[in-house]
Amino acid sequence: MTKFRRIGVLTSGGDAPGMNAAVRAVTRAALARGVEVMGIYNGYDGLMYDDMKLFHMRDVSNIISRGGTVLYSARAVEFKTEEGMAKAIAVCKKNQIDGIVAIGGDGTFRGATDLSIRGIPCIGIPGTIDNDISSTDYTIGFDTAMNTVLELIDKLRDTCESHARCNVVEVMGRAAGDIALQTGLATGAIAIAVREIPFDEEDALERMIKARKNGKRNFIVIVAEGKENFAEGFAKRIEEKTGIETRFTRFGHVQRGGCPTLKDRATASLMGKFAVDELLAGKSNLVVCERNGSIVSMDIGFALTVDKLFKGNLSEEQIAKIPPEEFAKMKAICDERAARKMLIYETAKEIGN
Ligand code: ATP
Repeated sequence: MTKFRRIGVLTSGGDAPGMNAAVRAVTRAALARGVEVMGIYNGYDGLMYDDMKLFHMRDVSNIISRGGTVLYSARAVEFKTEEGMAKAIAVCKKNQIDGIVAIGGDGTFRGATDLSIRGIPCIGIPGTIDNDISSTDYTIGFDTAMNTVLELIDKLRDTCESHARCNVVEVMGRAAGDIALQTGLATGAIAIAVREIPFDEEDALERMIKARKNGKRNFIVIVAEGKENFAEGFAKRIEEKTGIETRFTRFGHVQRGGCPTLKDRATASLMGKFAVDELLAGKSNLVVCERNGSIVSMDIGFALTVDKLFKGNLSEEQIAKIPPEEFAKMKAICDERAARKMLIYETAKEIGN
């Protein structure tokens, strides 16, 4: 088994509040075990071009509460090529990096697998506001983003109430409707439209007309960005068909910033320490996940296949090649996830009038 003297930590893909707390936890946990830590800047770019610094304990002081990532992030396209990979491995050897903790999304984990199979053990930590990594119930940054949305919608509601208006709000999440569903439930939205659940537009309009007759003044409708080219047009149709004055709002990248919430700091801290434990125990090619309240790890290949299965990105042929026992486990994870989303959707619909 590798005797770890020095590990690297990097953040990659889209930034998320709580990434700094994870970097801090990885650094402090490794140093506590007598292992040095190299902070790698700009994701896999820094790994290819030797942009890194040996971290002292105090290099991660006062970052637990900061949004963004002090290690910065980049989309390192060259890293996907054999030449890029060879550069990264040469830099690891030169800097005596025995293993890496990579914080990011599914692209980041693919990179971690490529390094793992070439002899650099890697552990991934899910960091993205979107909560769109199907193998884990939770991704670092999700709670902070939702709280940002919550605060902004509460403000919109005040002005909607004053003017008896509707506001259709588009929130982030890429293809996943998790931010839309949770914030829709928590803000009392009258309707939530996401890509993964069929949306009954006529029913939503009828419910709005009925609610207006019942004396309701303000209306909040939440649309996930994954439901492409929908939100703005829907706002126009609401006004035309219900007579309720309607505005459209897109919050955009404000959802990616800000001080991480307690949930994000705590989860990032637990996941960071867990990742170091796994790495130093000689494990590799794993992603840290939260499953039913516990921090566990999962093979990256398995996790990426679960993700494709959930998102409908596997062909019948590919599915047939998965051993039945493994497929049953994957399907159970996907079914649980789909059921959780549906419960939120149905509950919000029932009580959002
Ligand atoms: P987010 O979900 O926030 O977008 P992500 O980790 O999925 O995060 P990507 O840009 O897809 O973001 O990936 C981050 C980096 O991981 C890329 O810039 C690239 O360096 C590396 N990467 C992505 N895909 C692969 C791959 N197939 N093989 C090797 N490396 C990859």
